[in-house]
Order: sequence, then C-alpha cells, then structure tokens
Amino acid sequence: MSNKVHLGHTARKRFGQNFLTDQNIINSIVGAISPDNEHIMVEIGPGLGALTEPVADGIEKLTVVELDRDLVERLKSHPTLKHKLVIHQGDALKFDFSQLVQSDKQLKVFGNLPYNISTPLMFHLFEFSQYIKNMHFMLQKEVVLRLSASPGTKAYGRLTVMAQYFCQIMPVLEVPPGSFTPAPKVDSAVVRLVPFKTKPFPCQDVEVLRHLTMTAFNMRRKTLRNNLKQIISDADFELLGIDSTRRPEQISVEEYVALANLLCNKK
Ligand code: SAM
Repeated sequence: MSNKVHLGHTARKRFGQNFLTDQNIINSIVGAISPDNEHIMVEIGPGLGALTEPVADGIEKLTVVELDRDLVERLKSHPTLKHKLVIHQGDALKFDFSQLVQSDKQLKVFGNLPYNISTPLMFHLFEFSQYIKNMHFMLQKEVVLRLSASPGTKAYGRLTVMAQYFCQIMPVLEVPPGSFTPAPKVDSAVVRLVPFKTKPFPCQDVEVLRHLTMTAFNMRRKTLRNNLKQIISDADFELLGIDSTRRPEQISVEEYVALANLLCNKK
C-alpha cells in the first residue's frame, strides 16, 4: 500500500515527514509528556495528529506550530481537534515561543521533530528555556546520544555542551524505523529535556558561551589551546587550572562556562 493510500496524505521529504503509526509507541510518548491544563501544551509539527489527538484528549487547549499548509487545513477541519487547537502555520525555527506564555503558566513543548532541522530547532528552543517546564522530542537516536553524552566520548560536542548547560537530559525510549510511515532510514529515540530552574554552572553571558563553544569545536582534532588561541591565553588557561592540551570533546560543561565567564570579565 502506498503512503498516500495509507495516510490520505503524501509524506513530504523536504518537511521531514515520517508519521508515527505505532499505537504502543504513541501511548508511551503521551504518558511521558503527561498533558495537563496547568501548562501551555505546545506541539511542534503535529502532522496528521498521531500525538495531537491523544494529547488533546483530556485537556482544554493545545497549541501547534506546523509548516505544511495542507496539514494545517486538515487540522482546521478535524472533527475532534478543531475546537481545541490553536494553530500557528509557520516555521518553528522562527517562532517566538515566549508569545505563548500566559501569566505564570509555563510551556510543555513536544513533537516528533522533522529530523532535517532538529539540531537548529533545539538551539532555538534553548533561547526560551526560562519559559519552558519540559520538552519531549522524538529525534534521531544519534542526536539523543549526542544530547546525553559525557565528556571524552565521540558523541560529545557543541550540542551536548549547550543542551546540558540549559537542561537536564533524560533519554526516554528507543523507537525502531517500523513505527513510522514512511520508515526513516535511521533509528529514533525520545528524549526529555528539563530546563534548570537554577543552572548548576551559571554563565554571565550565554552569547559568549555560544561563541566560545562554536570556536572550540571548530576543529575537533585540534587541541583546545589551538582552537582558542585567538581569544584565550596560556596564562588564562593556567589561572583556571584547565589543561589546554586536551581536545574540545574532553572539556566539561563546567570548564566551558568557566572559560566563558573569564571572557565576560575581560570585556
Ligand atoms: N507529529 C506527526 C507524527 O508524529 O506523526 C508528524 C511528525 S513529522 C516527523 C514532522 C512534522 O513537522 C511534519 O508534520 C512537518 O510538516 C512538520 N514540520 C517540518 N518542518 C517544520 C518547521 N520548520 N516548523 C514546523 N513544523 C515543521
């Protein structure tokens, strides 16, 4: 059976459309999300509503951000969803999530994300972490491994440092390709990200940390000293007790924040 006949919609590759069709997996994800009326529930990429319907069931209102106009039209005329959804047609990468905050209600954000934009989308969402209670995302398994990686491992990179700076990361479950239509070429996994109320290692200016990590991970095979020689002197590494002959993936989040704060103090 073709995807179109099966779903009543042709999956668009450019929008990263792999629709969840495994009811057991859907139930597990909805259980992890734990929908409620005390938070503003926000779904990124509702698609054909695999998660949207069970999440909306039992709550008053669900906000969705969907790029595909055809799917937005379907959601608008969906018999059970149309009265509950607040639909924003547009690109989640450009969406101002702070506009959704109401009085003291925080956001719970979730989605089976389009894999082609999942990393920039998470960087975008970290900017709104103060408004977010938690996030549950279906991602490529490899991306979940990067989010939860420890220093010194291959998966540890800039995404790891920034994600672990903002959030506590908890892998929830692994999902095989056969749980989607069409099946993606890679394994998937669901992850929970909980933004820290009080950051374990606070940075004076997160822009400096962003820039520092970008420069540090520019060439993974070089030493930290080599990658950062334009901005951090040997004396400053010594002052912080950081061995700069290590590679960027061997430096902890705490050490990156210490380096960023040193740069902030010099400004
Ligand atoms: N939630 C549905 C499910 O689980 O079956 C669909 C998931 S599919 C992997 C990704 C969804 O994100 C699609 O509906 C796609 O149209 C939408 N999408 C793609 N790029 C987007 C973007 N930049 N902003 C918002 N939605 C996007």
